[in-house]
Amino acid sequence: MRKNLYTIFLVFCSQMVFGQTTIIRNSEIAKMISEISSDSLEHHVRMLASFNSRHTLSIDEEDGMPAAQQYVLSKFNHFAKQSGGRMTAEIEKFVIPGDDRRIPTDSPAANVMATLKGINPADDRIFIISAHMDSRNKDVMDEKGASPGANDNGSGTAAVIELARIMASHQFSATILFVAFTGEEQGLKGATYLADKAKNEGWNIGAVLNNDIIGNSSSSETLIKDNLMMRVFSETIPAAETEQEATIRKYINADNDSKSRQLARYIKEHGERYVDQFEVKLIYRADRFLRGGDQTPFAKNGMTAIRISEMNENFLHQHENVRMEDGVQYGDLPDFMDYEYLRKVTAVNLASLASLADSPDQPLEVKIDVRNLSNQTTLLWKAPKIGKAKGYFVLMRETSSSMWERKFWTTDTSLTLPYSKDNYFFAIQSVAESGAEGIPVLPTPLFKLN
Ligand SMILES: [Zn+2]
Repeated sequence: MRKNLYTIFLVFCSQMVFGQTTIIRNSEIAKMISEISSDSLEHHVRMLASFNSRHTLSIDEEDGMPAAQQYVLSKFNHFAKQSGGRMTAEIEKFVIPGDDRRIPTDSPAANVMATLKGINPADDRIFIISAHMDSRNKDVMDEKGASPGANDNGSGTAAVIELARIMASHQFSATILFVAFTGEEQGLKGATYLADKAKNEGWNIGAVLNNDIIGNSSSSETLIKDNLMMRVFSETIPAAETEQEATIRKYINADNDSKSRQLARYIKEHGERYVDQFEVKLIYRADRFLRGGDQTPFAKNGMTAIRISEMNENFLHQHENVRMEDGVQYGDLPDFMDYEYLRKVTAVNLASLASLADSPDQPLEVKIDVRNLSNQTTLLWKAPKIGKAKGYFVLMRETSSSMWERKFWTTDTSLTLPYSKDNYFFAIQSVAESGAEGIPVLPTPLFKLN
């Protein structure tokens, strides 16, 4: 009796949170998440912070950026042995052109990357999980002084390393690229290099999950201690929006539905589905106020890209020289981080990335029928070209709501719902045999049949 009541309560709760759907955790993803180790994460952060400086322009082969990059490469190469030949790792060298800002002269630089090939030869999508590994102190041009960069951004780099370790032995439809960027603090140099390369070579980028400052749970000044929340930043008006796209956006009131915003919602849903005691907060900004990150060059190239960050930053331990002053310790040191919190943020990444890399591609020609005035809403679409969709979720939300609120399942490629398009937003999401869901697509109006 008591058990029945509990079951009813659970079903009620899940319907309250997720509309008509039931919360189902994929067992393989849940197992991978259980393997994320706060000890491993802490080890990587301490190792990264043990190099004197990871400044982009640091050339010290023993104690500087090149040595730290060798550490990341050695980890990737080690995990690659578990991948059955599907994971390869490299240090990709390039030259950052000198500019008038933070690069005095043309300078050698490198990103460290591991590629986990997808198992579906017809799936050319690449999902990028990234973090910058360069660090800085108070003087952004000081390439020799100590800059441990434990949280900014040893934390994100450790998450990328840990995800590579766990995911290397698993198979995904699409390819996953694990990247430790250089040059973020000098002006997003490493990310710009890769985003431009991806654009010029026509890579099919599924999404970019960029992690920057994700391992501290106590704020400066406001003294908040809270390991229950993280943030996802997503652009509102796309940086790469064309005039034609702007016209459509205004026409259908899609001001809160950029591709990156859909990804942010997806991460919130998947993160909260798999990670207990954790809330993913959507921030309707491309980044923090007047600040930037490595997701930006990808967004500027029209790709779907978001930034993941901790909820409460601590500015005693960010971009500060390591020192004691009036009894206060300054500097970005490993002792000030919360590794259980870092584990949870890493888990949100894994839940989202594993689902994305196994999802079918997005449905094509997604339309909302406006040929006749009607209080019903008819949606039509075509099956994705990449991956097999066993069916689709039609998503619905109030115009004033931030998250999708209801999911209607269909195996067809059209659905009519007894809800008016005047009062709700709709989107379509492909679903794989495994249950993996793709990023939802907002429909555009269908005025007449071709
Ligand atoms: Zn950073």
